[in-house]
Amino acid sequence: MGLVVQKYGGSSVADAEGIKRVARRIVDTKKNGHQVVVVVSAMGDTTDELIDLAEQVSPIPAGREFDMLLTAGERISMALLAMAIKNLGHEAQSFTGSQAGVITDSVHNKARIIDVTPGRIRTALDEGNIAIVAGFQGVSQDKKDITTLGRGGSDTTAVALAAALDAEVCEIYTDVDGVFTADPRVVKKARKMDWIAFEDMLELASSGSKVLLHRCVEYARRYNIPIHVRSSFSGLPGTWVSNERPQGLPPQVALRLAPHIASQGDRPVEQAIISGVSHDTSEAKITVVGVPDKPGEAATIFRAVADAEINIDMIVQNVSAAATALTDISFTLPKAEGHKAMEALTRAQSVIGFDSLRYDDQIGKISLVGAGMKTNPGVTATFFEALSNAGVNIELISTSEIRISVVTRADDVNPAVQAVHSAFGLDSDSDEAVVYGGTGR
Ligand code: ADP
Ligand code: ASP
Ligand code: MG
Repeated sequence: MGLVVQKYGGSSVADAEGIKRVARRIVDTKKNGHQVVVVVSAMGDTTDELIDLAEQVSPIPAGREFDMLLTAGERISMALLAMAIKNLGHEAQSFTGSQAGVITDSVHNKARIIDVTPGRIRTALDEGNIAIVAGFQGVSQDKKDITTLGRGGSDTTAVALAAALDAEVCEIYTDVDGVFTADPRVVKKARKMDWIAFEDMLELASSGSKVLLHRCVEYARRYNIPIHVRSSFSGLPGTWVSNERPQGLPPQVALRLAPHIASQGDRPVEQAIISGVSHDTSEAKITVVGVPDKPGEAATIFRAVADAEINIDMIVQNVSAAATALTDISFTLPKAEGHKAMEALTRAQSVIGFDSLRYDDQIGKISLVGAGMKTNPGVTATFFEALSNAGVNIELISTSEIRISVVTRADDVNPAVQAVHSAFGLDSDSDEAVVYGGTGR
């Protein structure tokens, strides 16, 4: 029996009862003969509460101190979980990210893992312990400061440890039964997938399906670590995320897609044309109004944003009005970076020469993901018809080979996701998807 890495998200350890339930599951895995490494998130919405607290004392908190604060959440749950396991008569030791050998760069709040040296974890396992590691954190290689990996980063900690320890599987335990064709909180008729390819999961994750973090899927693909996403509240098998459909899974059930998009194109038959519909309400839109329409302007704007270490998502530039030779440029970015971006652009206003800035955080993004869509022209038309039938107005559009995304008003997101999910015949005709816990925050 090999080594298993299990990650438990915040909703799975939201209270003392949750911690005791998770401890029993971990002990059962150990009793089945596995070595077990557990990665744990902060309890419930602790991270959000710590962020709110920080913002009350400083609107733009210093990165180093902010990370120090946030890592406290995971330290609480790791210690409590180790205590609960010991209480069941098994040996457990908890470790911070730094003690577990998670070495990162020094970009606070969204550090990247550059090395994992889990010597202490190996020793703990060899001595018969269950090792509990605080997720979402590491230590910077140069300054030895404590860093965090960005929201949802415990998923990445789990996969990185699974790769470094050569685990046979990385199990991600959460509050739903696996990866669904849409967020089950929004679409009750969402369908659970028993398997999804890394490529499609990457696209779902990067367009907002927070059940798995994009960076974690990227890491798993690079090191070929199979991920099993499942519920910590039920004993049901979940969704496998891997390169190839695992042997032993029943053949994929064919979806009843609308006839005009049902041709398989060049997609291998075991993979679906459409993987799912994702949504994201964590972004804001900044519009730079009255930008001179001449070469170099976009470069100056996005250099100012990049120098503030802000990642942007979608960009549109309007056609300039002939009379003024001025144009508007809009882009989306994480809401959490909104303040910083507005400050950086304001500082650069005299160099760029725009009139004003507009900030809008009441937006949402809906994406349709599926590798079969590049060979099925009907897909795009069906997507826009579904939005139109739901009376949803589109503000921005972007496409990739296997994704179409639109930005709408935040209020329109849920009806839009439901309409698109139905239009592609993705609604399940069996039981409704169960959400076991969490607040969806
Ligand atoms: P955890 O606390 O376990 O890390 P998260 O809240 O980060 O949990 O992720 C689980 C949540 O992801 C689910 O409760 C669900 O609302 C949301 N979600 C979004 N898209 C999907 C999807 N396609 N399939 C399953 N869950 C999804
Ligand atoms: N606690 C962190 C967060 O809420 C990390 C994680 O849960 O993965 O983002
Ligand atoms: Mg998560």
